[in-house]
Amino acid sequence: MKIAIIGIGTVGSAVATAVKNTGFVHEIVLFDRDAIRARAAAEDLGHAASFGFDVKISAVSNYRGIRGSDIVIISAGANQKPGETRTDLLNKNVAVISDIVPRVMANVDPKHVRIIVVTNPLDVMVMLTQKLSKLPASRVIGTGTMLDSARLRTILSRQLSVSTQSINAYVLGEHGDSSMVNWTSATIGAVALDDFCRQMKTPLPATTRATIEHRVRNAAYEIIQGRGATWDGIGAAAADLLRCIINNEHRILTVSCVNGAGANMVAMSLPRVVGADGASAPIMPKMSASESAALRKCAKIIRKNYDSIGK
Ligand code: NAD
Repeated sequence: MKIAIIGIGTVGSAVATAVKNTGFVHEIVLFDRDAIRARAAAEDLGHAASFGFDVKISAVSNYRGIRGSDIVIISAGANQKPGETRTDLLNKNVAVISDIVPRVMANVDPKHVRIIVVTNPLDVMVMLTQKLSKLPASRVIGTGTMLDSARLRTILSRQLSVSTQSINAYVLGEHGDSSMVNWTSATIGAVALDDFCRQMKTPLPATTRATIEHRVRNAAYEIIQGRGATWDGIGAAAADLLRCIINNEHRILTVSCVNGAGANMVAMSLPRVVGADGASAPIMPKMSASESAALRKCAKIIRKNYDSIGK
């Protein structure tokens, strides 16, 4: 299994580390327009790999080096600076994706390759990548709200004193400021969240839920404020998605793929079954009226941003 990672900045390096540590990959090639940076990362990661799974890691100086890749991960582009939103990155990263995708497609097998998009603003970048690559929507997969859902599960785990592994609770919609928590479908083990709270006498009133939702939405801003950027969470999320594809695991993940047609075409995160062929059509969970309205608002915002790039 050969993986190419395009964009070896803070996130690309973290993704490479997490991918290396899965043990499911025999070769990772790194490309960055800053060739010195990619080479240095390949050296460092190669040294680290000698302590773990046998994986060949190299930097490539042009796109011919990604030939034979089964999966391409795009993590290039501008990141948020303190105070910036993901949408603020739109125009800069439209240029980055427009530069990268045609070069990737000229060097991979279009019948087989799967592309994982990490670059923000994520959902619009998924739409643009799918359009430029002409790949089926199922094989252009954004990490979407996998990370936001992990943040939600982490907070709930602390609040309810139950393992994150037993929490099925999802953040849906935009990987951005309009993301929404689908409280209605949340279960703890096999029990609906409300039932769990009643039985365990751990109330989760609307005010607490609103605070949790706010914390999930603001997690990236807080991390960027304190650390300059976010990388560990997204590295783990991208590697988990990759593992799910490589092993054809058919897990339900909240990834972002293009769905719908014409004026209704949009990419946003919904639960999908993910396996070797990519991501399935969305499996719509139960939602309250206000959750449905919040999801429609996400779709509108993403679509408006996509339309604004004029592609
Ligand atoms: P960074 O500035 O550290 O690294 C970006 C890298 O991209 C640089 O090495 C740069 O040389 C490279 N690059 C830029 N344009 C390129 C091009 N045309 N071709 C090849 N390489 C190019 O930024 P970062 O912190 O690594 O963030 C990268 C992206 O990941 C940002 O868009 C950021 O917002 C996004 N991100 C997404 C998530 C998520 O959950 N999806 C989480 C964190 C960050």
